[in-house]
Amino acid sequence: MRKFRLLCAVMTLVYTQVPLRATALTAALDIPPIPTVAPAHNTAVAPGITLIPGTFPEGQQPDGNTVIFTAPDGLIVMDTGRHAEHTQQILDFAIQTKRPIKAIINSHWHLDHIGGNPRIRNAYSDVRIYASGALEAAKQGFLADYRRDLEGALQQEPNGAQAPGWRNELAIIAAAPPADERIEASGAYLIAGRRLFIHLERYAVTAGDVWVFDPDTHVLAAGDLVTLPVPFLDTACPRGWKRALAGLSRTRFNLLVPGHGAPMRRESFETYQRAFDNLLECAAVPEKPGDACVDGWLHDAGQLIAADDPQRVRKSMSFYVAHSLRAKPESIVKLCGTRPARG
Ligand SMILES: [Zn+2]
Repeated sequence: MRKFRLLCAVMTLVYTQVPLRATALTAALDIPPIPTVAPAHNTAVAPGITLIPGTFPEGQQPDGNTVIFTAPDGLIVMDTGRHAEHTQQILDFAIQTKRPIKAIINSHWHLDHIGGNPRIRNAYSDVRIYASGALEAAKQGFLADYRRDLEGALQQEPNGAQAPGWRNELAIIAAAPPADERIEASGAYLIAGRRLFIHLERYAVTAGDVWVFDPDTHVLAAGDLVTLPVPFLDTACPRGWKRALAGLSRTRFNLLVPGHGAPMRRESFETYQRAFDNLLECAAVPEKPGDACVDGWLHDAGQLIAADDPQRVRKSMSFYVAHSLRAKPESIVKLCGTRPARG
């Protein structure tokens, strides 16, 4: 039963993500439309910064957004997707622009963000991977459990419709290389000749997340700290995540690129942050029915999720309220590290 639940949790992580269409959503955000319909196309979000949007084709698991920074000595790639098709777009971009990929920054270890690392290293053997050290711990814990669940599922349904996807997950876990440059603290980093501020958050979406602020363009690449239509709380410390959003809010960005979904201006980010904070507040009151917290999210985030299927959003959020926000205290403490995160 425990294993089944774990598999459900991970599957929720990957199946709840709905591809954000360019039409209604970007209209609501008052920014130039970003073409996120499949096949995804790369889009310049600012001078020297390109977005390869993650997609979520029907019946497959998603890829996170990739943000490429053009640097004097080559390209810096933030997050590499899960599927070969997504990573190929990154490699194609490097070929088209005639610039080598010099560095990868992984926002966190979820498989839709690190899956392309080995493929990029195959093409550019001297690429340096920048990441927190959280992958190593996850390989011993969460990902080890997930691997066992996948192997069990494959034994039961080796020819099922989902089997190729499960095998891809196993391959990513087995091949995931450790960081060459471990991010241990926030600060300015000179990578491939370009200066970026890399921020480390401990115990937020995972035990170690990084986000990037570009001082030249005031673009902030947030990784999954900002994820729509719902925050994916499977491996999260909710209070740490709230604290991280407060940190993003204090940063003078003009445009924020989320881990999934279209770039957003500050006003939309503030809507997201308010909805997140209200969600945690609601879930912390035991007398409040879970449905009230779900309704609150649908109301507060309304404009940001207008293009999403409300039934699907409701289902995902109900799961997270029950299994993440209202999980047993010992589970939350574990995800928040040994000491409680400050609210
Ligand atoms: Zn993701």
